Amino acid sequence: MRKVEVVVIGAGQAGLAAAFHLQRVGYVPDRDFVVLDHSPRPGGAWQFRWPTLTYGKVHGMHALPGMELADADPRRPSSEVIGGYFDSYERAFGLRVHRPVRVLAVRDGSGGRLLVETSEGGYAARALINATGTWDRPFWPRFPGQETFLGRQLHSSRYEGPEAFRGSRVVVVGGGTSAVQQLMEIAPVAAATTWVTRRPPVFREGPFGEEQGRAAVALVEQRVREGLPPRSVVSVTGLPMTEAIRRARESGVLERLPMFEQVTPGGVSWADGRDVEADTILYATGFRAAIDHLAPLRLREPGGGIRMGGTRALRDARVHLVGYGPSASTIGANRAGRAAVRDIRRLLDGTPETQTPESPESPESPESPQLAYEDGALASSLAS
Ligand SMILES: Cc1cc2nc3c(=O)[nH]c(=O)nc-3n(C[C@H](O)[C@H](O)[C@H](O)COP(=O)(O)OP(=O)(O)OC[C@H]3O[C@@H](n4cnc5c(N)ncnc54)[C@H](O)[C@@H]3O)c2cc1C
Repeated sequence: MRKVEVVVIGAGQAGLAAAFHLQRVGYVPDRDFVVLDHSPRPGGAWQFRWPTLTYGKVHGMHALPGMELADADPRRPSSEVIGGYFDSYERAFGLRVHRPVRVLAVRDGSGGRLLVETSEGGYAARALINATGTWDRPFWPRFPGQETFLGRQLHSSRYEGPEAFRGSRVVVVGGGTSAVQQLMEIAPVAAATTWVTRRPPVFREGPFGEEQGRAAVALVEQRVREGLPPRSVVSVTGLPMTEAIRRARESGVLERLPMFEQVTPGGVSWADGRDVEADTILYATGFRAAIDHLAPLRLREPGGGIRMGGTRALRDARVHLVGYGPSASTIGANRAGRAAVRDIRRLLDGTPETQTPESPESPESPESPQLAYEDGALASSLAS
């Protein structure tokens, strides 16, 4: 069991931003803190994003603190661009990410330490920054008859481009940006596409500025404060209307049906007797926070979420969640990393707090994750 001050779990945007700030305030990688990540390469979840999600299609990517992402070719897959950028970043700052290392569980240990059990042994830490994102927990909705379907069912996280759908009849489930982007790619090569969503999609016209961003984050933050699981981003921002979406709507590709009642061996059917034949059902139904390893700490509220004050779990002041809820965007993750480090430093140094916990109202945190906007970057991050 190695003793360290802080363990950071996850080396995506949120974990690297936290590591940067830990180092900046004097913590030394591999001596005072470790960063653990179970993915094979640098890039966080970006390394797994489908090849047709080019960098040009990613509108809201915010650079990590201290190093710009300059001159990226918009035609290259974002997985390559951002994977390469994170790799350079880790090297430039000597962050020494341990990979592939899976964190299996975090428990309460003796002496006020948290015991972090991993595939490479254990760590006893005084504080934890959890930055594990959502990619590892794709959400699959359940429908009667799903197991009888004779075709293929896959989640959008396993989408690898439109070719696999050539000539197929495809049902796309979900009202988010992934659903819309993948549907627009598949439609020209598929035999037929059907789009189903729970609620009618809201296409947002016009600019999405600071005020709208602020309101959207506040809605997500409110749920987290109440101990409820964070909502999907699109549920609060709506889908941004682009030229491509406008064309797809005009061509009928984005005509949406309400959710079907059940899956049948040959497709899907609705309560009113309507049915659609399908070879593939693609679930673009989002993700949940990948935090099962925190279960032994019993942080969850009866509502199913973790009640937070800033980035700190209110049930355990040693635990910070970054990239969670209101900070689940690249800009939010950056700011959350910094806020978490500031708070942890106070905790570990025993410095009395003037305001607890770090909150948007705190004079020390004028750029706390909830209120951080630059040139509408959060807005486009949120809309992505
Ligand atoms: C398709 C798609 C497009 C998006 N586009 C944008 C965009 O344009 N702009 C934007 O701001 N946001 C976008 N987002 C949201 C984006 O995911 C976040 O903004 C941000 O990149 C997430 O960073 P993260 O560090 O929180 O998580 P991740 O990038 O998911 O990193 C988490 C890391 O934790 C590791 N991990 C997880 N569990 C464990 C464990 N038990 N043990 C060890 N390691 C673990 C994973 O291997 C991973 O490397 C998009 C999301 C999706 C799904």
